Amino acid sequence: MIEISNLSKRFGEHVVLKDISLKVNRGGVVAMIGPSGSGKSTLLRCINLLTIPDGGQIRVGTRSLQFRDGRAEGLHKKDYASYRATTGMVFQHFNLFPHMSVVQNVMEGMVTVKKLPKSEARAYAMELLSRVGLDSKAETYPDQLSGGQKQRVAIARALALRPEVMLFDEATSALDPELVGEVLAVMKALAEEGMTMILVTHEIAFAREVADQVIFMRDGVVVEAGPASQVIDNPLQPATRSFLSRFNGPQVSR
Ligand code: ADP
Ligand code: MG
Repeated sequence: MIEISNLSKRFGEHVVLKDISLKVNRGGVVAMIGPSGSGKSTLLRCINLLTIPDGGQIRVGTRSLQFRDGRAEGLHKKDYASYRATTGMVFQHFNLFPHMSVVQNVMEGMVTVKKLPKSEARAYAMELLSRVGLDSKAETYPDQLSGGQKQRVAIARALALRPEVMLFDEATSALDPELVGEVLAVMKALAEEGMTMILVTHEIAFAREVADQVIFMRDGVVVEAGPASQVIDNPLQPATRSFLSRFNGPQVSR
């Protein structure tokens, strides 16, 4: 479903992604872990074209892009929005529109990007809100929601464009600890329904539970990749071991 080949990105002199290649099967769940600054967010942003890679290729489903000299060959800027709609992205900070109700937040992309009639957009938004357990909050405004509820709305909003893949960038990192579980539960349900997902997370226990592939990144390079039983439980590389040793406790022991 996703195939990334020889992807590279630099900001000025700073090489942030070095020759990254990875594949994600349809329905696959990849967890990306690694220290701050290793390039995890940049990689997700490249898949969603929020950042344009300098070189390499990205295929999502049937859409394939070749990057050269910091441009996507054959893709005009005006087509970015429809390309982006194939990947749903959820950020650490929810970025909901404060002046719109919950249901309007979820409808917005369907109306503006997909040009759906409002009644149809509202009906699907309500369906998605009930999937994330928030149909009763449809008419409230974001500032009346907890962080966990806001993030569940953000997930519903990302799903509204019927993406083929979902990208989660530290979706629970900004939440109070007691609210993390409700968001992870929604992500886990999506994975079980067969959504293809890449998630950047510091929730090692969660990664171990839901991911069928774990990628450890450092300094813009994939240091180690494989099943959770290898990368998390029996890492081969000293850098992976050293990183994981900071997450001590039951989640990294067997
Ligand atoms: P991670 O998500 O793993 O913490 P990032 O992908 O956010 O890492 O960042 C990787 C490196 O790229 C960091 O050193 C960061 O400072 C740098 N970086 C990210 N975005 C930009 C940008 N827009 N301009 C310059 N440097 C950036
Ligand atoms: Mg990041």
